[in-house]
Amino acid sequence: MKSLLQIDNINKYYGTKNNITKALNHVSFQVEEGEFLGIMGSSGSGKTTLLNSIATIHHVTSGHIYLGDRDITALKSEELAEFRMENLGFIFQDFNLLDNFTLEENIGLALTLRGVPKKKIKSKVVEAANRLGIQNELKKMPTEVSGGQNQRCACARAIINEPKLLLADEPTGALDSHSAQMLLECFESLNQEMKATILMVTHDVFSASYCGRILFLKDGKIFNEIHRGNKSRRDFFQEILDVVTLMGGEVSDGR
Ligand code: ADP
Repeated sequence: MKSLLQIDNINKYYGTKNNITKALNHVSFQVEEGEFLGIMGSSGSGKTTLLNSIATIHHVTSGHIYLGDRDITALKSEELAEFRMENLGFIFQDFNLLDNFTLEENIGLALTLRGVPKKKIKSKVVEAANRLGIQNELKKMPTEVSGGQNQRCACARAIINEPKLLLADEPTGALDSHSAQMLLECFESLNQEMKATILMVTHDVFSASYCGRILFLKDGKIFNEIHRGNKSRRDFFQEILDVVTLMGGEVSDGR
């Protein structure tokens, strides 16, 4: 496999000299194309800072992040919006859908803004909605469907442009366990069938058990890394739980 994302010795400090927080402290790792990577760690361990640095929302204090051959820490501010639109798909805990737009309009919004012909948008929206199992909800508003359907709509919106990297920040955090499982099964099939590369921040052990590899952050550093390999999801779940217990962090086991 080829390395898609390379995090090269990044530091992110907040505050000033006398009151400095090292949110990320010499973090390095790579993500291969087609990987489903989980980032875990207790609150304050640096997960959001890491995700936002990869999302080009934060500037790192030092170090480099490469997506393919491109050093994204060197992007100029006027290049950021286009870079994100072309390369990244975002899924947030609270969906971030536009309430006055139908699911169909929400999913196709990025393409509409780019002036893609309506017919093409329609076929792409329908294809994405089919993948996420929300094809019958397209004419409804976000307030007329369940949280799980809203999150799968957000996921369809994120994949519409076939981004190189899907970034998910606690995507199951606002969902009941059944909806969470449906979403995670969608992630799994996007990863296996479309070879989508997914980076998911979570503190939920059940969600993490769908990943192929997990990095554990503690105090801004990578504390541990485990691979699912050929293990069953149930065995991987137990392994994750053991690491989390060892770290003494506060996490949920999703039940
Ligand atoms: P997590 O997502 O794992 O909860 P964060 O990345 O939000 O962790 O935070 C990592 C550390 O950086 C914490 O100690 C947090 O208090 C600190 N931090 C995060 N954002 C800021 C900020 N804007 N200003 C100062 N400190 C911050």
